[in-house]
Amino acid sequence: MRDSLAAVSLLGVPYDAHSSFLRGPAGAPTAVRAALDGGSANWCTERGIDLDPVKGAAWRDLGDLDLPEEVEPALTIIREAAADAIAGGGRLVSIGGDHLVTWPLVQAMTGEHDGLTLLHFDAHPDLYDELDGDRYSHACPFARIMEEGKVARLVQFGIRTMTPHQRAQAERFGVEVHEAREGVVSMPSIDGPVYVTIDIDVLDPAFAPGMSHHEPGGWSTRQLLDALAGIARSDAVVVGADIVEINPERDINGLTAMVGAKLVKELLELVGVSSP
Ligand code: MN
Ligand code: MN
Repeated sequence: MRDSLAAVSLLGVPYDAHSSFLRGPAGAPTAVRAALDGGSANWCTERGIDLDPVKGAAWRDLGDLDLPEEVEPALTIIREAAADAIAGGGRLVSIGGDHLVTWPLVQAMTGEHDGLTLLHFDAHPDLYDELDGDRYSHACPFARIMEEGKVARLVQFGIRTMTPHQRAQAERFGVEVHEAREGVVSMPSIDGPVYVTIDIDVLDPAFAPGMSHHEPGGWSTRQLLDALAGIARSDAVVVGADIVEINPERDINGLTAMVGAKLVKELLELVGVSSP
């Protein structure tokens, strides 16, 4: 189902000015690139797709965006860069940044694709109307996205921090929430294009200590990879993906950056890169 001819791009989105608790995820693109290119692992995905750029694998690295601290101009730059990358059928994998960056990335996606489904992996539903008076908080992007009414479905996995307010928001927006306490869930069947957004804190902090919000009771790395494999086995056409909330300042031995690098490889395959 995937179109291997579509151009696939990797983009770093180093922005964390509206993180509510700790800064740091702006450093993730640098840390994840270093892990990708660090020599300790090969460039193959788990299914053996060789993504080595030196061998001519069909994806391009757009580097990292140069973003101002001020939020509105930053969001515009992110949205426009993503729109450029996907114009004409291109696919995009992004490394954030905190979860706010998913809002402009999804805006670019809905500009190109009708009927988009978001598959969202996170400890948190990120549905606050505002947090600490900030509507741009990284705790709010899915409220902003759903208010715009341009995505068909928002399906969340791994959630384990629901508040009464966020439960009400989920109901208001018709969000399909699969909480971590429900155990393993299989991927729903989906019509139309899919965007995958991975907040690294969907994982238990034991598997990825380099995150701002250590929320116990999370998924294993294996569970997340199996969920991505489930998407790959389905008929879903994945048009874009992001990984957000890796905080290198809290990482231990580059472990979380390495998880990010592995996820980048799996996501590049998921959006359609094949071996050269
Ligand atoms: Mn999040
Ligand atoms: Mn989170």
